[in-house]
Amino acid sequence: MSVKTPITVAHGDGIGPEIMDATIKILLAAGAQLDIEEIEIGEKVYMKGNSAGIAPEAWDSLRRTKVFLKAPITTPQGGGFKSLNVTTRKTLGLYANVRPCISYHPYVSTKHPKMDLVIIRENEEDLYAGIEHRQTDEVTQCLKLISRPGCEKIVRYAFEYALAYGRKKVTCFTKDNIMKLTDGLFHKVFDEIATEYPQIENEHWIVDIGAAKMADTPENFDVIVMPNLYGDVLSDIAAQITGSVGLAGSANIGDGIAMFEAIHGSAPRRAGQNLANPSGLLLGAVQMLVYIGQPEVAEKVHNAWLKTMEDGVHTYDIFKEGTSTEKVGTKEFAEAVVARVGQSPSKLNAVKYGSGKQIATKPVSTTKAKKETVGVDIFLHWTEADGQKNADVLGEELVKCTHNGMKLKMITNRGLKVYPNGFAETFCTDHWRCRYQKPDEAPVSNADIIALMNVIDKAGFDIIKTENLCTFDGEAGFSLGQGQ
Ligand code: NAD
Repeated sequence: MSVKTPITVAHGDGIGPEIMDATIKILLAAGAQLDIEEIEIGEKVYMKGNSAGIAPEAWDSLRRTKVFLKAPITTPQGGGFKSLNVTTRKTLGLYANVRPCISYHPYVSTKHPKMDLVIIRENEEDLYAGIEHRQTDEVTQCLKLISRPGCEKIVRYAFEYALAYGRKKVTCFTKDNIMKLTDGLFHKVFDEIATEYPQIENEHWIVDIGAAKMADTPENFDVIVMPNLYGDVLSDIAAQITGSVGLAGSANIGDGIAMFEAIHGSAPRRAGQNLANPSGLLLGAVQMLVYIGQPEVAEKVHNAWLKTMEDGVHTYDIFKEGTSTEKVGTKEFAEAVVARVGQSPSKLNAVKYGSGKQIATKPVSTTKAKKETVGVDIFLHWTEADGQKNADVLGEELVKCTHNGMKLKMITNRGLKVYPNGFAETFCTDHWRCRYQKPDEAPVSNADIIALMNVIDKAGFDIIKTENLCTFDGEAGFSLGQGQ
C-alpha cells in the first residue's frame, strides 16, 4: 500500500472552491496519494477581524505538512488588511516563485505559438518588504531591500531549475543602470553564480527592454530570473500572452516547505457559475506532485490535461470557434481530464518527469567586510515660513550647522542635487536629503552624528530620518546624488 503524503489544502474565495474541487478530483483519479488537511483562509477569516486572513491553527497545519495547495483568495481593499499571499510567502521563507508560461498552439489561440519560458521570481524581498512611511506633507517612501543571501538563493535556484528541467539558458532582468546598489547586487550575484554553471547560457537585460522583448519574441527566452516586483508584473503578462492568465500554475519554494497555486486571483465576477478554468491550479498541483515525490502521477495528470487541450475541450476563457470543439464548465472540464488519465497528447509534446526533479541548494555565503562610517545623510521636512522651498536658503542655514569637522556637502531633493549650484527651474518638494561628511571623507563616529543631529535640531529643523554613509572594504556603500 502506498504511503499518503500529508498536504494542507485551502479552497479560498471566488472561483477558488470550484477550481480546487476540480483539481482534487483529477489528482485523485490519477492515483495521487494524498492525506488532505483542510484549512480556512481568506475573506471569511478577514471578516472575523483577523487582519492576516489566516487563523493560528492553520499555521499549525502548514508547519506539520509543509506542503500547501492553495486556491486564490480575495484580499479586501484598504482597511489594514495584509495580503495573505505575501505573508505566507515571507513567513514560511518561500523564496522562489516558479511560473512556467507555455503556449499550446494551435489548440489555444495565441500570438506566440512557440512560447515556452519559466519566470523565477524572487519572493521575499524588494519593494515587497512592505516597509512604507509617510515622511512629510508631500512625500511617502517605500524601502526596497535586496540582500546578498536573498539574491544567492534565487539565482542559484534558477540555474539548478534549468539543470533539472533540461533548459539551456537563464536570463536575468534588473534595472541596475538606475538602482546600482540594490538591482546592482542582484546582477552581480547573477554574474558570479553563472560562472558555476558553464553548461548553461546566461545573459542579462535591463528590465524595460527585456520585458519588451519578452512580450514581442518570448520564444527567445527560456528561464528568466528577476527581483520580486518585476517578476510579479511580468509573469502575469507572460501567462496572459500564452492565451489566458487562467492557464499558468505557480510553485512557491522554501527550504523544506512549499506552496502551490494558480497565478491568477479569485475572479469574483466568475464565481459560483461553473465557468472558471481550473488549469492554473491544476498545473500548480502538478508541480506539487513532482515536489512530493509522485512524479509518475504528475506525468499522468499533465499529459491527460495536454490531451484535453489538444482535443479542444475548453473553458470559456480559451474557447474559440474553429479551434475548440467543445465549450465546457469547470466540472465538465475536470471530467474530461479524468476521462483522459492514462492518455498522452499526440501533437503537443508529452511531458516526462522521470524519477523526479531534484533542485539542489547550497548554504549562502557569509562575508564580513571592513565597515567604516564616513558620513551621514540627514533627511529634513522643511519649507520656508511663506511656503517657498528655496534650496539656497536651506543650504545657507545648514552650512552653519557643523560638528567636529563634519560639514554639509550637498542637498538633494528627490535624489537630484539642488545645493550647491542647483537650478532655479528644478521643482522641489518639502523632503530634503542633506549629506554631511568630513573633509577627505575621513571616518566619523556615531557620537559625531548624534551631536551633529543635536546641532541641526537646535537650529529648528525637523529631522525625519538619517542614513549612515559607510564604506565596505573601502568601497562606497551609498550612491551619489544625481548631478553630484
Ligand atoms: P483575477 O486574476 O482574479 O481575475 C482577472 C480576470 O481574469 C477575471 O475577471 C477573469 O476574466 C480572468 N480569470 C482569472 N482567472 C481565471 C480562470 N481561472 N478562468 C477563467 N478566467 C479567469 O484578478 P483580479 O480581478 O485583479 O483580482 C481579484 C481578487 O483576487 C482580488 O481580491 C485580488 O486581491 C485577488 N488575488 C489573489 C491572488 C491569489 O490568491 N494568489 C492573486 C491575484 C489576485
